Amino acid sequence: MLRTHHCGDLRHGHIGEVVSLSGWVQKTRDLGGMTFVDLRDRYGITQLAFNMDTDTDLCLQARKLGREYVIQVRGKVIERSSKNKNIPTGDIEIEVQELNVLNSAKTPPFTIEDQTDGGDDLRMQYRYLDIRRNPVRENLVLRHRLSTETRKYLDSQDFIEVETPYLIKSTPEGARDFIVPSRMNEGQFYALPQSPQTFKQLLMVGGMDKYFQIVKCFRDEDLRADRQPEFTQIDCEMAFVEQEDILNVFEGLTRHLIKSINNVDIENFPRMTYDEAIKTYGNDKPDIRFGMKFGELNAVAQHKDFNVFNNAELVVGIAVPGGNSFSRKDIDKLIDWVKRPQVGALGMVYVRCNDDGSYKSSVDKFYDQDDLGNWAKTTEANTGDLICVLSGKTNEVRAQLSALRMELAEQLGLRNPKEFAPLWVTDFPLLEWDEDTQRYHAMHHPFTAPKPEQIELLDTNPGAVKANAYDLVLNGNEIGGGSIRIHDKETQALMFNHLGFSEEEAKAQFGFLMNAFEYGAPPHGGIAFGLDRLVAILGGQETIRDFIAFPKNNSGRDVMIDAPAPISKDQLDELGLKTK
Ligand code: ASP
Repeated sequence: MLRTHHCGDLRHGHIGEVVSLSGWVQKTRDLGGMTFVDLRDRYGITQLAFNMDTDTDLCLQARKLGREYVIQVRGKVIERSSKNKNIPTGDIEIEVQELNVLNSAKTPPFTIEDQTDGGDDLRMQYRYLDIRRNPVRENLVLRHRLSTETRKYLDSQDFIEVETPYLIKSTPEGARDFIVPSRMNEGQFYALPQSPQTFKQLLMVGGMDKYFQIVKCFRDEDLRADRQPEFTQIDCEMAFVEQEDILNVFEGLTRHLIKSINNVDIENFPRMTYDEAIKTYGNDKPDIRFGMKFGELNAVAQHKDFNVFNNAELVVGIAVPGGNSFSRKDIDKLIDWVKRPQVGALGMVYVRCNDDGSYKSSVDKFYDQDDLGNWAKTTEANTGDLICVLSGKTNEVRAQLSALRMELAEQLGLRNPKEFAPLWVTDFPLLEWDEDTQRYHAMHHPFTAPKPEQIELLDTNPGAVKANAYDLVLNGNEIGGGSIRIHDKETQALMFNHLGFSEEEAKAQFGFLMNAFEYGAPPHGGIAFGLDRLVAILGGQETIRDFIAFPKNNSGRDVMIDAPAPISKDQLDELGLKTK
């Protein structure tokens, strides 16, 4: 037996027992008469003691152990003379009688400590060493708990986990497909699923009633901040449901997860329409842990000679709590920040709300105290606040102010990772106009149903049609999204038509789904949660890479196994492929 206990097991009560432990050498300390070794495994650290006087050979052997050597020891649990209150095994140590080196180790390229000296790239290259570090291991354990609790909860609600295939045909979720050539069908290709969307709908036609799957999805997109080409969804679908049923079940799941992982009770799941979110927060995934709601100022700012505002489509501001304490330099920094190309504002007007009730603005030349008072009213500013105002084209200026709002919240410490503020955003538009291709795209995906009472509008004003589509937002991140689906062939055909598919194209790509709809498809709908993001947020962080065992870098590479990589001429020939 290589071990009787783990390195985190032994306590005061074990004193006197003879035990075996196995693990990695965290460090050795040679104090002359005594040599101490910290032995580490997944469960903790135990101190091993070697005595030069009583067992010289063994002690000499111990002194030669390098960092990360894999060893096994046998010895007696004894009380430590100087206890270490910081670790659970700190009362005891092992008086070693036998030492076996199971494997030696090269010196690791970075320290295996909570705070390591290794940079991102190096840690990715040696991810298996990085995983030995507590923070990474803890993240993986958290992820395991989240998956387990998800399965427990959904099982308790009669959901059935069904696996769906990875080698499929395109399921459009708005990204590019990863393509897999077929050897047996030369010249033909599978696509990896961007999601199991069509399969889960077919499972509803198949009468499974409540489906879920913790599943990998693949999307070939340019990797903007914190995206991965393969990521994991908690994918769900239900039959005979309306939007309300789905929101209820998944509030339940979210409550259960936040309670079991973070021991926090979530009382409310407020709701907000998409239009309201855009108007009030400038984006469709607002962080509602703090205020700074948008106040639209056109009516109270476009009556004077200030042409910047007069010529703008939208003038909009936020009141920054306590912001009047910002120095001139702080404000200049903010102005530079909004003018960065990533944000793209042309400038920023500000108003200081002084403690005596007066206002001091950067546009005092144009606006009097009454005007500024109206701005304060509209942005709900209090004395001591700073009003920041941007202007320009509606969509652009909303995005800019939204970015500024988040930046300020960050600076002011208003984004407390221990606080959880979920929000349903509902009534998404069905379609979205794409300037590049000059046509409408499905905002969610092409299987989302228009609100039944708005189907007629599809012909006259497609952009105004709303869907029973919803996102679950948590702390300013979209953690889930779904919709009520189309379940009849005619509406699905109409939808494809509006998305610019010819009848033949629609049939070639999605004939199987439209056929299935002719065999008694029940009304159905569903949702998918992004598991990576959810676990990151519940873990108090926002970087999903830290919660994935073997993530890819920003260029989509796995730097550890060095993939993607060229394939041999033989493999190419077998697949009937030529590369440039
Ligand atoms: N398939 C959708 C997605 O991946 C989720 C859904 O509509 O259920 O976003």
